[in-house]
Amino acid sequence: MNMPDLPFSARPSSATARAGDGYRLAADGLWHSFGDAGVLRDVSLSLAPGEILCLVGPSGCGKSTLLRLLAGLEQVQRGSIALDGEVIADARRHVLPEKRGVGMVFQDFALFPHLSLVDNVAFGLAGRPAAQRRARALEMLARVGLAERAQDAPHALSGGQQQRVALARALAPQPRLMLLDEPFSNLDVRLRHHLRAETRHLLKEGGVASVMVTHDPDEAMFMADRIALMRAGRILQAGSPAELYRQPATPFAAEFFGEVN
Ligand code: ADP
Ligand code: MG
Repeated sequence: MNMPDLPFSARPSSATARAGDGYRLAADGLWHSFGDAGVLRDVSLSLAPGEILCLVGPSGCGKSTLLRLLAGLEQVQRGSIALDGEVIADARRHVLPEKRGVGMVFQDFALFPHLSLVDNVAFGLAGRPAAQRRARALEMLARVGLAERAQDAPHALSGGQQQRVALARALAPQPRLMLLDEPFSNLDVRLRHHLRAETRHLLKEGGVASVMVTHDPDEAMFMADRIALMRAGRILQAGSPAELYRQPATPFAAEFFGEVN
């Protein structure tokens, strides 16, 4: 595949995503406000298939809003979002979330409490024959080490196990893009360390492009191929973990990553 190797900043924010440019995701010039409050200010980013991008920044800087726009849970006000070169959202177009081929994992595991684990995972596979859904769901549960718990209800599981199921559910339909919003922040430190390694492995194994929000710079350093540092609705700097750590462009970036060890 012809894959341009450009940092975010090398893409002019006025550039529109074109079919065949090789990007899985190209968000271009996104602005967003809630009432009078400007929340995103000219955010552009692009992502190649198989890449993991971590979005980091202080609370309230717009990370979740950006993720919700990518997911289709918010309407784009200005700018555009393209998947595989096809514009799926701009001020006039809005492809529905379920038609985007996007998988989502949030911090509150959000499993269906009345469904068994296998039915939770099979839920995302609507439209396929029942036997195929079940087989795929069991395969995904096995991949996160929970095959023997297939018939259990979510409440019988620990938080970490529930988050594994949420991950299996999101990955089961082989999404084009995975969106993860602080997926480990409700878990204790040891489990967080375990799960981030497991999750990285699962995402890489599937070759899915992923955007993961975290407020933890250490987690971003571990998970990301590239990191985008946000502040007050803008991407201040984007690059490899090593670049952000060694060549912070602002004192803010230096301070943000300075505590990583
Ligand atoms: P982050 O995820 O980085 O903590 P958010 O994207 O959740 O930040 O929020 C960015 C800003 O937008 C915050 O000031 C937040 O209060 C505001 N905000 C988020 N969602 C809404 C909403 N639905 N209505 C009004 N304001 C919102
Ligand atoms: Mg958030």
